[in-house]
Amino acid sequence: MFQHTPKSRRRFLSDTVAVVSGAVATGLSLRLLAQNARLTPTPECKPGRATSAQTEGPFYSPRTPPKANFRADAAGEPIVLEGYVLDTQCRPLAGAWLDFWHADSAGAYDNAGFRLRGHQVTNAEGRYRLETILPAVYTGRTRHIHVKVSAKEGGRILTTQTYFPGEPGNARDGLYRPELVARKSGALLAFDFVLPA
Ligand code: FE
Repeated sequence: MFQHTPKSRRRFLSDTVAVVSGAVATGLSLRLLAQNARLTPTPECKPGRATSAQTEGPFYSPRTPPKANFRADAAGEPIVLEGYVLDTQCRPLAGAWLDFWHADSAGAYDNAGFRLRGHQVTNAEGRYRLETILPAVYTGRTRHIHVKVSAKEGGRILTTQTYFPGEPGNARDGLYRPELVARKSGALLAFDFVLPA
């Protein structure tokens, strides 16, 4: 299998930024940008440093269906969250398991079924892509998306949350961590999950 080295990955990311800049300059629509471009994920992987773990909170439901597109689950503003699952040497992990869940556009979770809940696996490049809607804030929490990540289904799980930049609620949320903020351009968010060794 082709393995990215940190150096080749940096070059890929700088190329991606150039593509994004060029797309903006030529006036391509944000929709096209969101479909085709890739943002530099935040934070860039630093060898030896895994993504911080966070509480799963009170609303996790196990045994989710395989689902990478939540758009049919609930009305709301479309967003995309995408990125890599990496090991602590910043190598992409193909076939890694991610289980996402988040609030709807009224700030409510579906605790009876699997609306806005689903798992997926990374592709051969170690990438995931979640097409969903913008979660609303709810009492005591800033805007966030929950996730459990594992190198493979049934393996050791990293539970964490990712956050949105520039949210007024970030500073008031005791769980919020700046290192868990995704990079954002319009409807496209990017975050890489780095699994502990
Ligand atoms: Fe939550």
